[in-house]
Amino acid sequence: MSTTKRERAVLIVSGGMDSCVLAYYYAAAGFDLHLLSFDYGQKHVKELAYAEKYIARLRGRFGLQENSLEIQHDVIELPISRLLTDSDSALINKNVQMPHGHYTDDSMKATVVPFRNPNMLLQAATLAWGDHASVIAYAAHQGDYAQYPDCREEFVDAFNKMLSTAMTGRTLHVESPFMHFTKAQITRLGASLDVPFDLTWSCYEGGYEGLDDRHCGRCGTCTERYEAFKLAGVPDPTQYAHDPELYLNIPGTASTAG
Ligand SMILES: [Zn+2]
Repeated sequence: MSTTKRERAVLIVSGGMDSCVLAYYYAAAGFDLHLLSFDYGQKHVKELAYAEKYIARLRGRFGLQENSLEIQHDVIELPISRLLTDSDSALINKNVQMPHGHYTDDSMKATVVPFRNPNMLLQAATLAWGDHASVIAYAAHQGDYAQYPDCREEFVDAFNKMLSTAMTGRTLHVESPFMHFTKAQITRLGASLDVPFDLTWSCYEGGYEGLDDRHCGRCGTCTERYEAFKLAGVPDPTQYAHDPELYLNIPGTASTAG
């Protein structure tokens, strides 16, 4: 039996499909994993139960054989919504209505949570330091650029610079392997890794207001999810309460909905 120590990665995971693909991707690459999820006051906190589901499946796949991967998962609380009282973010303020429509619409700015990723990444970096992990990763992708400044390459570069300035003596860095991928490309990669998409949750709105286990089908992340499966040619296992097609606005098709 090999005694070589495996490299360890701390991954930030939500209940969403990109995070799930990220976890399977690093597991397939042979990393021991410490997965970290956050309860930051998000309305769709339901997603955390989905993270547990796909991580259980991941353990079944990669964590049960002899010499198999170590897969740890923690959920921690971040007081973001408490610090941002009166926030105009629809993700954390119950008085702000979730915008409906395509995820590139201007109205989706209402889904930005200020400093969310830097907050999460700093927790992950602290965990990685204590864990002797060399890599921290999160699943930012091309579709996030427009709305979320903390999903851009400049941010990752700046954050890495901050890490090496804040602590010295060890190499620790943030990776975002999907930065140049579209969500459809992530979906294709996930399909090739046999990712259980049915155990992931994207919707910002569903899970409450009587929608049970259905995605709403009309918030930005629902239309993005629907579109990604469609463009990737991968079967979409999601149950939507409203037909996302009506809220989709792929350039050139000019379909809109109010
Ligand atoms: Zn939704």
